[in-house]
Parts: sequence; C-alpha cells; structure tokens
Amino acid sequence: MARVVSALAAGQPVMARGPSLLAERALVLNVTYQALSIVAARRAVLMVLGGRAEVLHAGDGVVRSERLRMPVPSVVRLSHHVRAPFRRRAPLHRAAIFVRDGNRCQYCGRTAECVDHVHPRSKGGTYDWENVVACCRACNVAKGDSLLGESRFSLSRPPYAPEPLAVDAALRSHMPSEWQDYLPSLRPLGR
Ligand SMILES: [Zn+2]
Repeated sequence: MARVVSALAAGQPVMARGPSLLAERALVLNVTYQALSIVAARRAVLMVLGGRAEVLHAGDGVVRSERLRMPVPSVVRLSHHVRAPFRRRAPLHRAAIFVRDGNRCQYCGRTAECVDHVHPRSKGGTYDWENVVACCRACNVAKGDSLLGESRFSLSRPPYAPEPLAVDAALRSHMPSEWQDYLPSLRPLGR
C-alpha cells in the first residue's frame, strides 16, 4: 500500500482498469454527507488510503498494484468533520443558466434558445446571475429593451446565483448518477 501511496503522491501512473484514473473525478462529502468539493480521483484514493475518507460509491475503474486492488472512488466521505469552505459566487456561465432554468423560457415556458437580460443592458442591466435568464427567441425579440413593469412580460421565478459546487457538477458532461443524491439541484446560494 505504501508503494501505491508514494506512486500516487509522486504523480506516477498506477494501473487502473477502465477509464483513466487521471481523468476521473470524485465528489468529497463532509462527515455530515454535505458535498464539499470535486477532486481528482487520484487525490480521493490518497485520502482513502490515508484513512481520512471512506468510499461511499465506486466508479468504473480499479486501482491496482502488487498489493492493492481498490475501486476508483466516485464519492468519498471524510472521517472527520471539516468546516465547509466559504462559498464564493460561481462565475456566470451561459450553459449553467440553461441548466438552472430547466432549458425553459422564464417568460413563457417554451424551450429556451438564448439568454435575456431582465433589466436591459441598454438601461444599465448587468450580466450576472440575478439579471440573466433563459429565454425563447420570440420573447427575447418581443421584450426588446423594455422593462418588466412596462411590458406584458413577467418572470416565472426570480433568477438566483446557484451554489458553485452545483454549477461545477452541472457543467460536467458526464456527471456520475450517484453524485445526484448529494447534489440535488442548482439550489440558490446561501439558502
Ligand atoms: Zn418565451
């Protein structure tokens, strides 16, 4: 085991069957099961081998050496409570707006095709989570530069800044299904 730990720590490849260990990611949970971060699977393996975490869900690959055979972790849980890091706001990401808004136009409910500044840019509206929503082309054109109070448009719900970790997970092309139990949605930050 010590050899595996030192090989991992030194950044040397360890045989893994299935997807490359280097490409895999693991979700780290606090002892309370709160999702904390997404780390390289290599780091999660080190945490498990060092006794600092346990594997809750295994991924597809297997880490192998002469003396060790263990599944590549997909979700690990820390053995000791750590204080959750201060949550910065996630950078605004166009794709994440569509995910947050369920790919639905926030004015009419049809399939969203673009994003809209609720308070128009021409009138000082900013490009941030609370002012940008997914929108269909027709509503985008019809609303134009008008303000909500001056038009027939209203929002199905107020836009919000989601949890950064949920944004990070949502933007991954192949988020493991077992992560969804711990990242239920793009929930609002600080609620
Ligand atoms: Zn619409």
